[in-house]
This record gives sequence, C-alpha cells and structure tokens, in this order.
Amino acid sequence: MLVRVDFNVPLDNSLNVTDDTRIRRAIPTIKTILKAGGSVVLMSHLGRPKDGYSDKLSLKNIIPCLENLLGLPVLFASNCVGDDALDITQTLKPGQVALLENLRFHDEEKEGDEFFAGQLAENGDLYVNDAFGTAHRSHASTAIIARFFPEDSAFGELMAAEITALSRVMTDPASPLLAIIGGAKVSSKLAILENLVEKVDRLIIGGGMAYTFVLAMGGRVGASLIEQEMVDRARAILEKATSCGTSIHLPVDSICADNFSADASTEICSTDSIRDGWMGLDIGPESCAEFAEVVKSSKTILWNGPMGVFEFEAFAKGTFVVANALKDATEGGAYTLVGGGDSVAAINAANLSDDVSYVSTGGGAMLEYLEGKVLPGIAALS
Ligand code: AMP
Repeated sequence: MLVRVDFNVPLDNSLNVTDDTRIRRAIPTIKTILKAGGSVVLMSHLGRPKDGYSDKLSLKNIIPCLENLLGLPVLFASNCVGDDALDITQTLKPGQVALLENLRFHDEEKEGDEFFAGQLAENGDLYVNDAFGTAHRSHASTAIIARFFPEDSAFGELMAAEITALSRVMTDPASPLLAIIGGAKVSSKLAILENLVEKVDRLIIGGGMAYTFVLAMGGRVGASLIEQEMVDRARAILEKATSCGTSIHLPVDSICADNFSADASTEICSTDSIRDGWMGLDIGPESCAEFAEVVKSSKTILWNGPMGVFEFEAFAKGTFVVANALKDATEGGAYTLVGGGDSVAAINAANLSDDVSYVSTGGGAMLEYLEGKVLPGIAALS
C-alpha cells in the first residue's frame, strides 16, 4: 500500500528529530496494514526544499526515529519516482516497510503535476492518505494521485480521526457550542470567525486577536497588537453575532506590558483603556474567571490560539487557565477539540494534551476546514 504520511518534523542541527509527534501519529495506520498482511510504501515531504535535493531535508534523516517507533527496519528509496523507487517498492514483501525520498525534491509535487502523480502511483496497488497536515494542499501526492486509484483508495486512521473530530464539532454538536479563538494572526483568523460566528452559541476572542475587536468597539488599546485594516471586518463580525444571538466574550481586563519582553514592567488594566505605549500581552484575572466559567458550562468546545504570549511566563496564565478549564469541561462530559499550530504547543506546555478529547495535528489544514473550505486531500477521496 502506498501511504501519504506527514513526516514534516523539526530537526536539530545534527539532523535529529526534535518532535516525533507526527511520526508517532502515523504508526497505527502502518501497523494496521502490516497486521493485515500488507507491505507499506511511505511518502512524505520534509521542509521547503528550494532547488531539488539537499542533505538537510532528506527523509533518510528520520529513519532512525521511524525504525525506533515501528520496531522494524525501514528500506529507503533515494528518489520517490523512477527506478530507484520501483526497484524497492515492486519487490517489497508482506510485512516490509519502505520510505521514499522527500516528495518536494521534485517541483511537480507542489504543482500537482498529473504525470508525476502517475509515476508516484506506480509504487503501490492501493493508495492511503493519512496526511491531514497537508490535506489543504492540492499536491500530486495528496490529491491528484487519487485519480490513479479510483476504486482502491482510503483515508488512514489519523486522517479519519481528524475528520471525525472536526465534524463532531462542526456538524450537529452538543450545545452550547463554544469556539475560543486566540493567537496573533488576525487577518487569517477573521475568516474563521466569519464562518464560525453563525454556527456557534458562544465565542471567546482572546490573545492578540482581541485588540482589533476592542478597537472596533471604540476602545483604547495603546500599543497592543492590532490590524487597522481589519477593524471593519471585526465590527461586522460583532454585528453578525448580535443579529444571530451568538454571545461574544472579549477580555474585560488585560495584563499590560511596557514593552514586548519576558521581563517587561506589567500592570493590570481594562482592555478598553490601555495607556499609550503599553500593550496587552495576556488576559487579566477577571477575564480568566469569566472565560473559565464559559468554558466549564459549554458542551462542545473548539480551541485555537493562545490567550496571551504564553512563551513568556509572565503572560502565560490566561492560556493555562483556559487549558485547565478545558480539562475540567472534558471531565464533566464536554467534547473538547484543540488544534492549529500554537494551541498544540500551548496545551503541551500546560501538560494537558491527554486531558482534552482530541488534539489535532493539522495547523493550516484545520484552520482552512474551520473557514468552511473544502480540503482537496479530503475531497479527492470522498
Ligand atoms: P497564532 O499562530 O495566530 O495562533 O498565534 C500564536 C502567537 O500569538 C503566539 O506566539 C503568542 O505569543 C501570540 N500572542 C498571543 N497573545 C498575544 C498578544 N496579546 N499580543 C501579541 N502576541 C500574542
């Protein structure tokens, strides 16, 4: 079976894998296939190669980690297409695992080239897509390749779990449904809020996102993170919330700092009257208490984006309070889904990733799903 996985893992300067989460999450699908008597050909991208091959971005670097997690030797093809690949993949025996070299050493991968997808397809009799992290890309190995397996393709276990988790929140959730959106990418997350505002019962907007909204309501936000050109869109979201009965929770108070640093001077102030030159870097104590209450009384909760600059201890409290409230809500029977880049780092930093219902592996893919977009990697197999 030819399996598209997401082995796009971080490597240190000695080319050791520093976070093996993505590899670990692909292991169940590989083991299921092996147990059923199949052999597995794995393909993935790693990083963003510019001009073809580079030693640093070779997938051979991850083999020790993969072999260790699988407990099996892994054969390696130094090219993902052509004879180097076929010599290995066409002689693979049941129970064996092979890994193909980085797909993005060929520009055709990102271009979604059909001929290249056909060459990749020669490496297996069946196609499995287990790479949720790249499901929002219409690349040769994630979407186009499905044309070569009209009857013989499937989602892998990770992909299936991701889709199940997201649809549990977006289709027919237990109410009240709460979305918590924080972080700093205001413009890209406004698209999510525009889609979610009509679907959820409650919306918490925290982190750097909040200040553009406070500004839209006429507040003074000092030097806090804002995107001026997004103010009108933020105002429209607030108006839509009122018209469709969605309750919006913005932080009433903030931990403000006199500069963006771990050891800045701080003071607690109302979020709508921050002094000139000062910036809100975390939600304040009143907001913590309010947000925790809202979380604990919700039945389905989606969380994307930290409540503050949690990388600095002085501004991590709001994020950890919300993470702990999610834990309590989960224990009380709520369904809790955390996902998208830094939210995963935040829940890991709070040591609570095992205490929520599901932690998504997809950053961009999850965000696009929440925007209401159709993901090509999912559509190709649906
Ligand atoms: P995102 O990728 O959009 O989820 O943003 C995550 C980043 O937002 C983290 O690195 C946080 O440090 C940052 N962040 C959270 N709250 C704030 C804030 N109030 N001001 C500036 N950056 C923030």
